[in-house]
Amino acid sequence: MTRPTRAVLNWSHLRHNYELVRNVGSGRTYAVIKANGYGHGLVNCARALSAADGFAVACVDEAMQLREAGIQRKVVVLQGAYDAAEWKLAAEHNIQLVVHHEQQLADRDSVTLSAPVGVWLKINSGMNRVGFRPEQADAVLARIAADDKLDLRHVMTHFAAADDRQDDSFMAQLQVMAGREWPVSLSVSNSAALLRDKTVNGQPLAEGVRRPGICLYGCSPILGESAAGLGLKAVMTLESKVISSHWVPAGETVGYGGDWRAERDTRVGVITIGYGDGYPRHAPSGTPVLVDGVECPLIGRVSMDMITVDLTDHANAGIGSHVELWGENLSADRIAALCGTISYELFCQLTPRVKRVARELPTDTPSPCAAAACKTHG
Ligand SMILES: *Cc1c(COP(=O)(O)O)cnc(C)c1O
Repeated sequence: MTRPTRAVLNWSHLRHNYELVRNVGSGRTYAVIKANGYGHGLVNCARALSAADGFAVACVDEAMQLREAGIQRKVVVLQGAYDAAEWKLAAEHNIQLVVHHEQQLADRDSVTLSAPVGVWLKINSGMNRVGFRPEQADAVLARIAADDKLDLRHVMTHFAAADDRQDDSFMAQLQVMAGREWPVSLSVSNSAALLRDKTVNGQPLAEGVRRPGICLYGCSPILGESAAGLGLKAVMTLESKVISSHWVPAGETVGYGGDWRAERDTRVGVITIGYGDGYPRHAPSGTPVLVDGVECPLIGRVSMDMITVDLTDHANAGIGSHVELWGENLSADRIAALCGTISYELFCQLTPRVKRVARELPTDTPSPCAAAACKTHG
């Protein structure tokens, strides 16, 4: 037997989530699959979403991985080019680039491009991370317009706190974008903004392209709102098995540092997963772990390769019991909150030791019954 620790990926849930958000509001929907598809696998996510309007990745390296895998769909690089060589690659491989800084235009001017490059102008509407300040926009737009190898596609921005309905910055940033005419359509929405009302001065902000990420993977982008309540389905289920169980008498401790002490005679189950797999070391005692479908509390510190759970109240569980750490039956949002982080980080931290396996093939070929239904209905 090989190690049973694996991330099972449900590609039909990825497609379900994409279709769900695509049908909220209007505008095209580019799936954000940066950082290895939020840990789910860059190329497999792109294959599963082969019908997507386009993709967004963080860097040219990621865009090139898609091209090298034969994926020819539209792709935009959210950080744009880091140097002149990346401008050339973008031109050769039909990769669209965000332009957020003067340096990128200087790099562009230092090379001859073999073909026009689609560019998205990034405006800093208040997050103050990257982007041109609104008052710089006219000069940059003129510079792009004067360059026959730059093809302006969209003007974009990114929100600092779209996930928090109580935070006023969302409306302030929207107002910056809505406060003037732009020569091309906008792209403003991450997952949270896509699901929120973007009415400014009585007008819903029109968007050419939205850029949802986390909601595609089945997590809630909005604070205090559950993914299930939003109709989203978990794509990744992180699984393992119980490999040992034994009784520990009341008064003794379990694990490194002896942090957790048994208040009663306790049956300890040992599961083969740890921070070496990306299960968060900061998961506190009490974090739920599903053992054969029953929530059992984590006890003691997370080790590199193992965790321990309290099986005292789950008499049927033992060696070989199936374990879910998060996924279809235990939301990653809930685990993340207990660990003081966000689902994004849990996914991105999964290490290569965790085998990624598909619940089904990562293609969008209709299932036999769907194909049959098509036939019946002519
Ligand atoms: C990562 C990212 C997104 C997607 O954000 P989610 O919160 O995962 O929806 C959208 N736009 C930009 C610029 C990003 O960097």
